[in-house]
Amino acid sequence: MESERVKNFVSKFFESLQCEVNFKGGVLFVKNVPESFEKFCGRKGSYKFAFEKGVASSEIEVLSSGSFLLKSINDYLDGRGQTTLLKINFNPEIKEELEKKILLRNCKITNITKKHQNNFFLRFSFITTFQYLNDKKQVLTNVFVKDGKIIDFDLEKYEILEGKKRDVAFENVQEFYKLAKNKLNFLLEEKVQEVSQNLSKILDKEIKRVKQHYETHIQEFSGSLEKLKNKLKGLEMKEGEEDKILKIKKDIINLKNNPELEKLKKEEEFCIKDEIQKHSLDIKTRLMNTTIIYYPVYSCDVFFKNEENARIVHFEFDPLEKKSSDFFCDSCNLKLDEIILCSSGHLTCRNCGERCESCNEIFCNICLKKVCAQCGKKICEKCAVRCSKCGKFKCKSHVKIMEFSGDAVCESCLKRCSYCGGLFDLDSLKIDSASGKDVCFKCLSKEVGEKTLKDIFKD
Ligand SMILES: [Zn+2]
Ligand SMILES: [Zn+2]
Ligand SMILES: [Zn+2]
Ligand SMILES: [Zn+2]
Ligand SMILES: [Zn+2]
Ligand SMILES: [Zn+2]
Repeated sequence: MESERVKNFVSKFFESLQCEVNFKGGVLFVKNVPESFEKFCGRKGSYKFAFEKGVASSEIEVLSSGSFLLKSINDYLDGRGQTTLLKINFNPEIKEELEKKILLRNCKITNITKKHQNNFFLRFSFITTFQYLNDKKQVLTNVFVKDGKIIDFDLEKYEILEGKKRDVAFENVQEFYKLAKNKLNFLLEEKVQEVSQNLSKILDKEIKRVKQHYETHIQEFSGSLEKLKNKLKGLEMKEGEEDKILKIKKDIINLKNNPELEKLKKEEEFCIKDEIQKHSLDIKTRLMNTTIIYYPVYSCDVFFKNEENARIVHFEFDPLEKKSSDFFCDSCNLKLDEIILCSSGHLTCRNCGERCESCNEIFCNICLKKVCAQCGKKICEKCAVRCSKCGKFKCKSHVKIMEFSGDAVCESCLKRCSYCGGLFDLDSLKIDSASGKDVCFKCLSKEVGEKTLKDIFKD
């Protein structure tokens, strides 16, 4: 029983120092002992401990109450307020995290630049001693405080490294101590109540036992007293017994004032007080260690790219909380669960993303604004051409680039030459006075030339 208690206490103590603790074949192996404790007890780690005498060897030390090492542990605990730095080792693949969160529809991630800063939280390790019935029980309790709140946390789930002082910019530890202490009291309340209730039950029994014990002795007196009183009554009925009556009355007074009876009553009182004292619960709590725990929070630039366009988007990732920043549609601000890169590099949701009816590329609301004045199709900036004559935007297919001027002219602003069938803008066609038809400059000058020649050779 005793050895079990020592074993639990010692292993919990080294666990709270973040040592590697293993129990195998009756031997407790303790590795990675922090320098602060090695120095304190003057012994280098690792350690091997046993708790039953049979297991001892030159390497294995048997610990029992009174051992030097147990004393060292208690002294170390008395030193209180030691601060330890621990780092949670995270090295996440940001790309994997991104791919868990979003679907890449028409682009790839080509590069991620990763920066980090440290987030901090605290662990307060308290040791509470319950003392009652000549027995001592010690309980180690860890309370974690993060962002000014108590949190549930299991350090064992993570890979832990020894922290470096230069990484830590955390000073107001004291501010959170009170919070942790209140939580500790709350956590201990149940245990305290349980122990107190047990104790008061045992105490009630003990008091009853004491009272019963003294009652039998005291009853002996009252029994004798009763007998004397009855005898007296009998004598008083008769005559001439004055001497005897006087003697019995004397005996009664003596019995009532008997110092033995007084002594018994005092003894009883003392025993009850002693039992109350023995069954009282004494609780002492001390802060054994404060640990500053930190871990990296990432801030990244993510490069989304497809053949045509690229876009850099900021991304934050907290690997402990498993929280990350979101992506939003550049047009309507909706949260995205997929990445569609608009052909101008905007992020777009399905509602805002549409295909250009001319080139079939995906565009967002901002980029797919033009409507062809001729066929009514929604077209992108690249596919829309402005007619230099009427000023309207139209699909490329409806527009011709003029040979000489290089101007863009739409079909509505073009007409065919009645003679050669070529397309010309309306301004370039002339009406042939002879036929009354629209004729291009070339055909017109040819016609005029022929006519002139005809006129010359007419005579
Ligand atoms: Zn949208
Ligand atoms: Zn287009
Ligand atoms: Zn766009
Ligand atoms: Zn036009
Ligand atoms: Zn069109
Ligand atoms: Zn022509």
